[in-house]
Amino acid sequence: MKRILTGLLVVCTCLTAHAQYNYEATHRKSLDQVIRELSARFETRLKVEVDTVGKWVPQADSRIRPYSIEESLNNVLTLFNYKFVKQNPRYYKIKPYEPHRRLPEEGRKLVDYLTATHYQNRQTAEERLDRVEQEVSAIINREILNLRVLTVQDAEPVLTKKRKYNGYTVQNFRIETLPGLYLCGSIYAPSQKLKEGERLPVVLSPDGHTPRYLHDNQARMAAWARMGIIAVAYDLVGYGESALQLGEQVHHSVLAQQMQWMNTQILLDWMLSREDIDPTRVGLCGASGGGTQTMQMGIDPRFTAICPVISLSAYFDGGCPCESAIYLPAAADGCCNVELAAVHAPRPLGVVSDGKDWTAHVPELEGPMLQQIYKLYNAEDQLYFYHFPNEGHDFGYNKRKAVYDFFARVFGLDVTRADETKLTLEPMEELLLFGKGGSLLPAEAVRSVEELPRYARERAKSLR
Ligand SMILES: [Zn+2]
Repeated sequence: MKRILTGLLVVCTCLTAHAQYNYEATHRKSLDQVIRELSARFETRLKVEVDTVGKWVPQADSRIRPYSIEESLNNVLTLFNYKFVKQNPRYYKIKPYEPHRRLPEEGRKLVDYLTATHYQNRQTAEERLDRVEQEVSAIINREILNLRVLTVQDAEPVLTKKRKYNGYTVQNFRIETLPGLYLCGSIYAPSQKLKEGERLPVVLSPDGHTPRYLHDNQARMAAWARMGIIAVAYDLVGYGESALQLGEQVHHSVLAQQMQWMNTQILLDWMLSREDIDPTRVGLCGASGGGTQTMQMGIDPRFTAICPVISLSAYFDGGCPCESAIYLPAAADGCCNVELAAVHAPRPLGVVSDGKDWTAHVPELEGPMLQQIYKLYNAEDQLYFYHFPNEGHDFGYNKRKAVYDFFARVFGLDVTRADETKLTLEPMEELLLFGKGGSLLPAEAVRSVEELPRYARERAKSLR
């Protein structure tokens, strides 16, 4: 009897092993094969932009939904942290998962959820926006705390000689933000003399991924200055003269976002300490990555008017490390850039959008959400939308005209003064603080990002 039982056990074990073998062999397929089969079944082109080598899909057939290629793709691709991006109904790209990018339909769901949950009356709206502001500010302050401890508190900005042009002047500046590290930029100011006690509005301009030396940026700064604004352009971390000290690679690290915040705060501190600046007219305006930074850093209540350009979206948070290395949408149990912008209610908010990037839905998605919020504050007239359905992701002339119009309206200025034909385009060398190739960098300057932590510690000690 015992022998029979043992025999049965052996048979059962073999059957089980056999079943398992068959089960796996039958149901496991390579990712390549699954993609080929889906492509054929749904007669759809699937362009693979991910690594599929050695990737296997367990229980592959059970993941397919005969009525939906998108549900099928989703069931398969999430196993590998991949996703699909629809190009048209017969063409999809397969890409790595991107935490900052979702589908427009998901943006709609988030906007509907947030609006229904928080923005039906003034009291809940205020509570929600206070929470978003506090949590995002806390994240910002925590992230840059160590940097601010090392910040050179008393470093006087160094200003170069003013260059005089038609209706405006340009002056380069550098500030030692951390020991041995300099923030460089240019200040464009109106050339008229100030009357007794007169103060001017200021606009800080994080330039996104286009260096401040380019024509479009020089034109914008000069036009603002001709309107009566003190306009400040400054290097993005890892771009321009920042790259001389930290290398371009720093831009692909969390330091890019941390230092960009810190630099903006230091610039704002400096500007508000000046006698000629009006603290009731303080603007922030950048495009693309600079637009995301405008919404993030615009949380600082000292900014009285902000204008994100080609950036505001409920389903795209900004993908570069200088915007997204720190995952802000986790704040307040899940928020989005629309709410970051809405923190400004009831202060003036401008939104510049176009038809060919993630701002394409502003007129029917993000815009109405902002209108609903501003309406609760009786401040719908403080919202300014500039949508260009036939344009793409750039800061071209029409969009520059939009930001001239916005700041003219909210700061009470004459927009006809914003005449770009009066611009004198300066060669790049003119806008540099440290000469071509950094030949004029001081001996004690940081010259690589690896040097920064050790160097900053030593300098911080010596400064105590
Ligand atoms: Zn960036």
